Amino acid sequence: MADYDYDVLIIGAGPGGYVAAIRAAQLGLKTACVEGRETLGGTCLNVGCIPSKAMLHASEYFDAAANGSMAKMGVIVTPKLDLPAMHGQRQDAVKQLTGGIEFLFKKNKVDWIKGFAAFTSADTVEVAGKSYRARNIVIATGSSVTPLPGVTIDQKVVVDSTGALELPKVPKKMVVIGGGVIGLELGSVWRRLGSEVTVVEFLDQLLPGMDMDVRKEAAKIFKKQGMALKLGTKVTGVAVKGGKATLTLEPAAGGASETLEADCVLVSIGRRPNTEGLALDKAGLETNARGQIEVDHDLRTTIPGIWAIGDVVPGPMLAHKAEDEGIAVAENIAGQTGIINHAVIPSVVYTWPEIAGVGLTEEQAKERGEIKVGKFPMLANSRAKTNHEPDGFVKVIADAKTDRVLGTWIIASVAGTMIAQVAQAMEFGATSEDIAYTCHAHPTHNEAIKEAAMAVTGKPIHI
Ligand code: FAD
Ligand code: NAD
Repeated sequence: MADYDYDVLIIGAGPGGYVAAIRAAQLGLKTACVEGRETLGGTCLNVGCIPSKAMLHASEYFDAAANGSMAKMGVIVTPKLDLPAMHGQRQDAVKQLTGGIEFLFKKNKVDWIKGFAAFTSADTVEVAGKSYRARNIVIATGSSVTPLPGVTIDQKVVVDSTGALELPKVPKKMVVIGGGVIGLELGSVWRRLGSEVTVVEFLDQLLPGMDMDVRKEAAKIFKKQGMALKLGTKVTGVAVKGGKATLTLEPAAGGASETLEADCVLVSIGRRPNTEGLALDKAGLETNARGQIEVDHDLRTTIPGIWAIGDVVPGPMLAHKAEDEGIAVAENIAGQTGIINHAVIPSVVYTWPEIAGVGLTEEQAKERGEIKVGKFPMLANSRAKTNHEPDGFVKVIADAKTDRVLGTWIIASVAGTMIAQVAQAMEFGATSEDIAYTCHAHPTHNEAIKEAAMAVTGKPIHI
């Protein structure tokens, strides 16, 4: 029909939406992307993955100089913190990368429609008072911070992840509510820069969803680094007075409450899908009990012509998952076969050391049948040992009968880089023997993956 403005209109320019827009345009579809923020790139580039990694990377250098690990290698320095400069390089990274997406939109002829979109019907949205009709609409509106009932985020004393990236000075005492990915990454940043950090976690272990061995070992490592952990504890209130916070804590299992003082409180108890203001009802769409938009394997919603991807749909809230769904949705719209293997999505916590996993945890794998597990400590890996990085291990989980790799979990300085090898192997349906007999360069951290795979059959060399 001639009266469509676009073949594809995407709502949201995060890693899901901007990637979908570029791929759709590459496939010859007339494409627009609506974004309400001043800059493209969504949560990830503006206030998520990128700025957090800028602060993690810089604070890692500071910590290495301050905690004696550089001195151990004969480099003696006394670090002096220039926090405005550290923030400056963070802002610079964000500016360059978000500007890069704008360049890619121009290069690929994607129209950026500025403003917030709301449906007026199943094929039309309104943005800043103007209507746009599209043959296909992709909802890629992402997620926002889950608030803690009764706790007001003022971005001064009580902050969310966005506020925690921008603190103008190092707080003396910081309390992190939630021992998940954000709490541990941003808690690590400020601990390295000098804060006394306490993490309060409702569950009895950190990092829900990860392998239990990893969760327990991570807790030991963070404690050793000086982070105080209050596990099995919930925050029931935060009162702010005179620039200080008093938190009320209760054991999750019930019992007497206690209080904790802090100069800064980070609320990091999860994120929730963004659907408010979209007027989904005008398109005939509903959300599920968790506020997400349900999609089928092809990323179609229940309404023909409307698709959804990224944090707003079920699944892990990860940028690379959103990106892969962005490519797949565009290819499906163009009549191709968009493929995402939701069973092989790596997840990485960018702390020191890094924590990474792909596939099933040992607990999940055991529930499905008989398994074999091979473990190898980083202490016995020559490169990690030489680099003074003894913490962590690699654990490979394989099916006992077929030997097919079901999952791998890693704690190591470069676990986030190492895990890609296993994801690729799993994508090809590798067995632990395939990994064990693949020649790995020496000396590399990745040799620990080979050794853990050898350990599945009980025959590692270096332990
Ligand atoms: P988003 O990136 O949230 O983008 C959605 C966009 O849609 C936003 O820009 C929003 O303004 C826009 N929008 C919403 N509603 C409308 C509307 N009605 N009209 C127009 N525009 C709209 N993931 C990783 O994989 N690795 C990491 O290291 C990592 N670090 C993170 C660190 C932090 C501090 C945070 C908060 C998150 C991190 N994440 C990380 C998660 C990652 O940012 C998200 O999974 C990812 O951004 C989701 O992409 P998305 O495209 O679905 O949504
Ligand atoms: P999360 O779900 O990872 O962790 C939240 C934690 O808060 C959980 O452990 C939960 O048990 C705990 N919690 C909930 N209510 C509590 C309470 N009242 N008191 C104490 N603890 C409580 O959520 P997050 O850390 O906020 O991160 C949000 C999302 O962002 C995650 O889904 C994650 O995938 C994504 N993210 C990813 C990365 C990465 O890939 N490196 C980095 C940051 C964020």
